Amino acid sequence: MNPDTAAEQHVFLGLGSNLGQPETHVLRAFDGLARMPGSRLLRRSSLYRTAPVGFVDQPHFVNAVAEMRTVLSPEALLVAILALERDHGRVRSFANAPRTLDIDILLFGGLVRHTDRLTLPHPRAHLREFVLRPLAEIAPDCDFPGRGPVWELLAACEPQGVTRLGGVADAGTQASARMRSASLTQ
Ligand code: ADP
Ligand code: MG
Repeated sequence: MNPDTAAEQHVFLGLGSNLGQPETHVLRAFDGLARMPGSRLLRRSSLYRTAPVGFVDQPHFVNAVAEMRTVLSPEALLVAILALERDHGRVRSFANAPRTLDIDILLFGGLVRHTDRLTLPHPRAHLREFVLRPLAEIAPDCDFPGRGPVWELLAACEPQGVTRLGGVADAGTQASARMRSASLTQ
């Protein structure tokens, strides 16, 4: 094993924006993640357009997922992504409010943890089509501890108004092949 990478953890981050120019915020956020100290950006999903949930009287969202490896602790990674959100002018007003940039830690290796600051895996990620669709595009087999692989969670998820905007075209085929075989066996 390469000693430089031995301590790295495999993480997935969820990105979202619905203020200003959402696509630009998400694309620039990928660049910010690529420059994050102690971390490597491995893959980025396509961008997806999502109808707002909760507080529905607001613009649609643009969502995506990033796959990274990092030597940062979960808390240090949270500090780094909150700093990136602030760089994009994120202001916290009320739950589900419009935002220039939201970055959530979806999965941090296989870690299961709940503190005041951080819940891992993200407590709602496995229920959200705007997380599961981009995740299934780049990592359909990745596992939510105690819940199962992403492709299975996506097959069980009610449609929530998520459409693909474009981006990488290669990874979607794996997920859709599994989705097709899942629906054939039901
Ligand atoms: P949301 O993403 O649910 O709309 P916020 O982005 O305002 O809400 O996040 C509020 C807080 O949620 C963060 O400051 C952080 O302390 C906490 N949090 C708990 N678990 C996570 C996680 N897995 N990823 C990101 N933030 C988390
Ligand atoms: Mg958040």
